[in-house]
Amino acid sequence: MIEGALEADGRIAAKNAVKIRAALRELANYKQLFLQYQDTQPVSTDNLAKDRARARAWAIMNVTQLRTEALASALWRMWAEAWVLGDVAAGEWIQRTEELNKADDGYVDWSKWQPGDRAAAIMLKRPKAFQEILDRTNASIKGMTTTSITDIGNALADAVELGLDAERAAVLIGRHVASPARALTIAITEQNRVMSAATIARYKEAELEKMEWHVSDPCAKCAQNANVEVVIGTSFPSGNTQPPAHPHCRCVLLPVIPGMEETDGGIAGATTTPPIASEGVATGSWTKVDEQAWVDRQIAARAKDPRFTDPYNEIQLQILRDQAKDADIYQRGVHILRVDKNLINPPSQQDIQQFMANFDEVYERLPAWRRFDANGVERGYNLIINGEASGNTLAYTYLGHDTVWFSVKDIKTALDAPKDWKGWFMSAANNTNENLYTIAHEFGHTVDSVMNANRGKVSGALRRKYPELFSRYSAKNSKEAYAEVFAEWILGVRNPVTETYAERFGWNLSVADYYSPDNRMVTWKPNARTILLGN
Ligand SMILES: [Zn+2]
Ligand SMILES: [Zn+2]
Repeated sequence: MIEGALEADGRIAAKNAVKIRAALRELANYKQLFLQYQDTQPVSTDNLAKDRARARAWAIMNVTQLRTEALASALWRMWAEAWVLGDVAAGEWIQRTEELNKADDGYVDWSKWQPGDRAAAIMLKRPKAFQEILDRTNASIKGMTTTSITDIGNALADAVELGLDAERAAVLIGRHVASPARALTIAITEQNRVMSAATIARYKEAELEKMEWHVSDPCAKCAQNANVEVVIGTSFPSGNTQPPAHPHCRCVLLPVIPGMEETDGGIAGATTTPPIASEGVATGSWTKVDEQAWVDRQIAARAKDPRFTDPYNEIQLQILRDQAKDADIYQRGVHILRVDKNLINPPSQQDIQQFMANFDEVYERLPAWRRFDANGVERGYNLIINGEASGNTLAYTYLGHDTVWFSVKDIKTALDAPKDWKGWFMSAANNTNENLYTIAHEFGHTVDSVMNANRGKVSGALRRKYPELFSRYSAKNSKEAYAEVFAEWILGVRNPVTETYAERFGWNLSVADYYSPDNRMVTWKPNARTILLGN
């Protein structure tokens, strides 16, 4: 649902980063600053950290006049564009959420979308919430200039240490203050701040009461907010009232439409501590891949993906490279596993190997149409282990997605002996380790689809008839019921509930039987078949 808007956001951020960078270059006459600093006759010592601290102190005292006009005007234009983007995206998300059962015609074509004249119009019209953003211009700029002065100080010390002349020192300082990475971070973060504000304004206008935090490849902080719904204007678990939760954050706010407020995704753990287990099984089929190979693979995958016409832009490539740098990456065929390198309490190598074995085992039992598309191409999973477990969330994904996020807490149960869940999860959970069950459950969400709007009717009717065949966890909502029954089914339990679900949602179908002949459902709604057939 959000891919299109994020695509446009990334494209516009890349363009705005160039303007911000130019504005940062103009903040001061760096040559003159260097000459002034040289007048203080600074001597380089062999302690660069100390030299930098001294130069920073000098910069704070002496760089009092920065030319911020260009920065302000770049920000204003960017904010106006971000506002329009947030407004249009929010409108689309409301429409999509309301019309989940319909074909996705009539939405925004994001592929070449530009804020264009609407951004100029917003500057003239200035809705109240947008005026409030403009009113905080000085505070925003102050934050940026404070960082710039620190950068100037560090660069002055470096220039002295390197013995540069004034000309070359000015270039070096300019590069520090106006680095592409910094300009990009400002663009992404500022765009997100204003885009989120516009989204909220639109939701308020539509008289929605609640909104949901939708994470984009989340850090531990944002993961706390994943799929959490709050009353508009109140705080999420991280303490933020809206994204960004940190520099570079690309999370967005989705609407919660009354009557459709089921959340999808998470599987919550029970509060009891499972027993510590003993044996480990290794799998040799996964291999470690290097960063560049992974980035190349993402580029190649996108080139083949009919949803995207453009290749990754500069900013998206940077995000990919950042992701690759921070993780150990493993591959098995079309599947990728990324394990965050910066975990405070990382899983053991045995845990990870058992996780791989668990994945392999359950993957083999997936419906053929989840493993292969209509053209016989294997549909890979993107598995991510990151962040520390927050709250009770063990793992999550989105309906019909390829990516599944696992908490460290869950991976650490991969070697656990089975235990009796006393009805909290489906009966199959009692015969397997917790992590394998989690994988089966998350696979259930990835087999599900927003098109399966009838799943509530199916679970309601079956639950009334066979209450004892449902887990307590599945009572949360019909999407969780779907994932729970799927886990039970894929782990081999056959009873009237699993059989009916399998029949209703086509779990037993072959690839040829599952996809419609014109292949139309493959890219967006691979499991929409039950709706198409009118059940
Ligand atoms: Zn975020
Ligand atoms: Zn779930």
